[in-house]
Amino acid sequence: MDQKSALFPGSFDPLTNGHLDIIKRLANLYPEVYVAVARNTTKSGWFTFEEKVKLIEDNVQDLNVKVVPLEKGLVVELARKLNAVLVRGLRNHKDFEYEQDIASVNHLQAPEIETLLIFSSEKYRGFSSSLIKEIALNDGILDGMVPENVKKALENKVKSEH
Ligand code: ADP
Repeated sequence: MDQKSALFPGSFDPLTNGHLDIIKRLANLYPEVYVAVARNTTKSGWFTFEEKVKLIEDNVQDLNVKVVPLEKGLVVELARKLNAVLVRGLRNHKDFEYEQDIASVNHLQAPEIETLLIFSSEKYRGFSSSLIKEIALNDGILDGMVPENVKKALENKVKSEH
């Protein structure tokens, strides 16, 4: 079965310029790109699903990209439904090992769904949502690391909750 669209799942807590770079590159490769905002039970989040979805949506309005909240259910099930390849970003060897495990488990769940890995662009390699939250929490400089709406949202979170 041809997988004609790409599904890029993640926690996106919040979206960074590293994520956005991958999304834009995928939008050039596939006629349809889905970004699934999934729950990661191993990470505690700052943003709600609704907030995370909106922060991404505002940055992909002009692209062939749809944002899908995935509160329940496996990512592979969504990939099946959408007839999509699963795409994950790769920054370093730690990502590689993590992604290798996820990909093999996903393959057991749904052998017909392929996982593709895409290298991070050099300038975004060091970016992660956790690092960005750490910077926000300590009033560091967020310019160039996250889109403008995410920067504002982070600053508001820090002001109101932390
Ligand atoms: P998860 O909790 O599912 O790992 P993340 O939001 O941390 O969700 O990451 C989603 C995907 O984006 C993962 O495949 C991750 O490797 C990738 N990613 C995260 N940051 C970057 C970056 N700076 N450059 C490229 N890919 C990235």
